Amino acid sequence: MSIALVIPDRKLDQLQQKLQQQLPGVAIEIWPDVQEPEAVTMAVLWRQPPGCLSQMSNLKALQSFGAGVDNILIDPTLPDLPLARIVDPMLTQSMLQYLQGVVQHYQLRLDEFSAQQRKQIWKARSPRKLQFICVLGLGELGQAVASHFAGLGFVVSGWSASQKTLAGVQCFAGETAFSDAVGDADLVICLLPLTALTENLLDQQRMALLKPGVILVNVARGAIVDDLALLQNLDSGHIAAACLDVFRTEPLPTEHPFWQHPAILLTPHISAVTNADTAVAQIAENYRRSLAGLPLLNLVCQQRGY
Ligand code: NAP
Repeated sequence: MSIALVIPDRKLDQLQQKLQQQLPGVAIEIWPDVQEPEAVTMAVLWRQPPGCLSQMSNLKALQSFGAGVDNILIDPTLPDLPLARIVDPMLTQSMLQYLQGVVQHYQLRLDEFSAQQRKQIWKARSPRKLQFICVLGLGELGQAVASHFAGLGFVVSGWSASQKTLAGVQCFAGETAFSDAVGDADLVICLLPLTALTENLLDQQRMALLKPGVILVNVARGAIVDDLALLQNLDSGHIAAACLDVFRTEPLPTEHPFWQHPAILLTPHISAVTNADTAVAQIAENYRRSLAGLPLLNLVCQQRGY
């Protein structure tokens, strides 16, 4: 019995070693050099090429190497097996730190001062009034983010598919409540998963429901935002600024207009990166569970896509 790491374009020696320490005696194979595909019972996946699991005829469980699973579920050849994802307090901590920095960046008008600096303009301005934050998606990350900013004294609303109750956060659920959730927000943070229902969710129509002068932060997945609609709304000033950590195509193609747009702050998908140690502990535990016939930790509902 063995585990296959199917995570193309990444150095996996350390992950392999750490996993080996947790599971002595279990072969940890790195795809595409899998010696005995029929011995593999668990595949650890991230952006796997379609068809790559076809030889692994005894697979029992699938494990995402990250919090998201959209890049895994997109594979039409994916076997119908339990799929788990990583849920990690360190990942949440890293997302909170990133968003804290982003909110302060805009509160302090560092975006505007940086533009002024490039034109050698000396002009003092008081901090931006940023009181109301809306968090789209109230899952593992969204709930932590909403509670964090509520605890700091911001007025916070949250939006999810099913109704939530969260101390200090005004919670809204479902399509019809979207405009109420976002309507007063000075800054909107997207922490939705990418699914058939959320692809292009932030399109021209929904952007029109945002408050004029809003700041949009996307740390979820690029394809949730309609790129063209975002550019049009930034150009018109309806959206004052956007901070983007995720993109439809990554790395962002050099010719993409986001690179040069003066109202966009762009980071290369670094807001919350999977911690190898936590991931290894969860992968090992799920491996043991799959052999014992127990339900995996942090199971994903493949039908709804998250
Ligand atoms: P999660 O626990 O699965 O939560 C997803 C939330 O979105 C849930 O509250 C869900 O509502 C809501 N939702 C899903 N579809 C919806 C819809 N159609 N309308 C309204 N709400 C909807 O996910 P998470 O762990 O918080 O992570 C969120 C996403 O962040 C991940 O999927 C991943 O794409 C992204 N991410 C990015 C980074 C990065 O480095 N940038 C790192 C980690 C994760 P219900 O609770 O009612 O189901």
